[in-house]
Amino acid sequence: MNTEELYETICEWRGVETPCPTCGGLGVRTYPTTSTWHSGIGGMTPTNGVCNKCWGSGDAYKPWPSHRLLLRLHNEKATSTDSPDTDTHSS
Ligand SMILES: [Zn+2]
Repeated sequence: MNTEELYETICEWRGVETPCPTCGGLGVRTYPTTSTWHSGIGGMTPTNGVCNKCWGSGDAYKPWPSHRLLLRLHNEKATSTDSPDTDTHSS
């Protein structure tokens, strides 16, 4: 198996139909700094992190949920003390 065949096999395993142009369908990319997808201040070491275009799905048109969105939702939940949706599904 050559490199191209391996690449196609990996994309097939991952269910990638249209490889994300940023990460090439692998869902990970190398960031120039340690800040990765958080942006902001980071160190100078190139760092692997989740792709900030497809968020790890590897498919350009079927991104997984944004880590930034999840982090924001998490922070909102953490700061609101009287969240109405807490434990409403448990019986
Ligand atoms: Zn990507």
